[in-house]
Amino acid sequence: MEQPSHTDRALEILRHTFGYEAFRGHQADIINTVCEARDSLVLMPTGGGKSMCYQIPALLSDGTGVVVSPLIALMQDQVSALQASGVDAAFLNSSQSTQEQAQVIERLRSGYLDLLYVAPERLLQESTLEMLDQSNINLFAIDEAHCVSAWGHDFRQDYLGLGVLGERYQGVPRIALTATADERTRQDILERLALQNPAVFVQSFDRPNICYSVQIKRDAKQQLLSFLAEHRSESGIVYCLSRRSVESTSQFLNSSGYRALPYHAGMQSEDRAFNQSRFLQEEGLIMVATIAFGMGIDKPDVRFVAHMDLPKSIEAYYQETGRAGRDGAAADAWMVYGLQDVVRLSRMIEESEADHNHKRIERAKLDTLLGWSEVTACRRIALLAHFGEPMKEACGNCDICLTPPVTWDGTREAQMALSAVYRTGQRFGASHVIDVLRGADNEKVRRFNHQILSTFGIGQELSDQRWRSVFRQLVVRGYLNVDHNNFGGLRLTEASRSILKGEEVLWLREEAQTRQRARRQTIDYELALEDEDLMDDLKELRRRLAEEASVPPYVIFHDRTLLDMIRLRPDTLAQMRDVNGVGEAKLSRYGELFLDVLQAHGRIRSGAFE
Ligand code: ADP
Ligand code: ZN
Repeated sequence: MEQPSHTDRALEILRHTFGYEAFRGHQADIINTVCEARDSLVLMPTGGGKSMCYQIPALLSDGTGVVVSPLIALMQDQVSALQASGVDAAFLNSSQSTQEQAQVIERLRSGYLDLLYVAPERLLQESTLEMLDQSNINLFAIDEAHCVSAWGHDFRQDYLGLGVLGERYQGVPRIALTATADERTRQDILERLALQNPAVFVQSFDRPNICYSVQIKRDAKQQLLSFLAEHRSESGIVYCLSRRSVESTSQFLNSSGYRALPYHAGMQSEDRAFNQSRFLQEEGLIMVATIAFGMGIDKPDVRFVAHMDLPKSIEAYYQETGRAGRDGAAADAWMVYGLQDVVRLSRMIEESEADHNHKRIERAKLDTLLGWSEVTACRRIALLAHFGEPMKEACGNCDICLTPPVTWDGTREAQMALSAVYRTGQRFGASHVIDVLRGADNEKVRRFNHQILSTFGIGQELSDQRWRSVFRQLVVRGYLNVDHNNFGGLRLTEASRSILKGEEVLWLREEAQTRQRARRQTIDYELALEDEDLMDDLKELRRRLAEEASVPPYVIFHDRTLLDMIRLRPDTLAQMRDVNGVGEAKLSRYGELFLDVLQAHGRIRSGAFE
């Protein structure tokens, strides 16, 4: 008789244990590859469903799958989620007592444990490796595998040691997973982990449910408030560059009627951990944070990520915004930036200790991000192009698609701006040069005798703000450089010449005064008004259960699952099984309770017709 293929058995586990109907993207192929004991590298965007790719193979064979994961917080979350689905999973780390650790080791040795999560430094200790020698290991999954690359932004020394696993555990497949896409990181992973004849799976990096938008910074806090008005009582992350702005932004939000928590490296680690766990456990909190926050946060219902300052690169931006909307429901990535950010970031690069080559790379990365911020066609096309993924049609779900920007011929203004920079000696920042162009009568102008220049006062038709926009675009497009050896003064570049000579026409972007908010694209279902009460009650039940079990609410059920309950209105446990995200373990544990709530509302509803 023919054996059922890996895929059939895998599908059975997907449905039975996790409550999902079908595999997504390459999941089935990846699972097959692991089951055939071949090494693999998986590149998938955040929220793409990487974990299934090793969890299911580990469940399919005898023994234990070992998952290498960089963060303790991440392990705890994954383990609670697995346990809630009836999987025997555990982690091993220093937060546990010796006794707890001994119990985990016992389960591992006996072969009952399905999945074991460990950090690389722990895994590579000789005592751990010896323990694994004596156990039945069916795979190694190396999560966040980009940590092995010094090129990326999360380099971890310990990851380098993971190359030894291949030699020591021959025949045990290794699967490396990451959401970082660029070619260089990919090569580093393959080489440094010494994967054997690996199958490489690259999934589209598009996150269609995320709406991208970028605004020019005017009054960043007020702009944030208008943005948040669309996100009342939703969870989200607000990124700021400095600790100080984290503090002030979070105070500002709290005094404006939002519930916000700060998070940065300058806080006591207990306070940080406390705020992080509140953000995960409670609903509707805003985390205001530096980039110290976020790695390994897999809270599925983060509805927005806002950047109050420019990130360092497109990769960083993509990774940070990727924390929004992991559950697949509509989410926003929103950013404000201005010329000041450009000046500050490029100064940080110049002043860093890094060597010449490294600085050059950092500068190039910043330029690419700036170019992307100023695009005049679909943002998603440009974003995906950066990751080497062509996309033919405009997305319809970014600011540019929703409100196309207006451009204007700024050649003459650019010439004025460049010659004013030249005449003032290429040593002043934009503010002073604008004062000269607009003919300001102030102390600094008089001190340098700039009122006698031919460019003095020639630009009075344009407002200060419009001039700022001209200068920003000139810098971003490489017609002006910021000279950090000279107090951030602006200098002409090679490229400026063709503009000054009138050989080039320069189209500039009009700043929209009030950019119309993007129409909210709902990928899933729109909640009907009369169902909102029901949703509230389902959430309330979920909150109670989560509290009893000391896990975040989404470990019980995702929002999506609750929405699916409302859509399908199951009457029986058997029907409840069809709800997305309800597997056997959760069905028997929570099914009745949720049915009760659904039925109570059903009665209220039908009562209305009697
Ligand atoms: P990643 O690690 O790639 O960011 P996860 O593995 O956490 O993503 O998966 C994201 C979400 O998608 C999880 O809630 C997961 O349960 C869900 N998911 C994964 N695979 C499927 C599938 N085939 N069908 C439906 N939901 C899925
Ligand atoms: Zn678009």
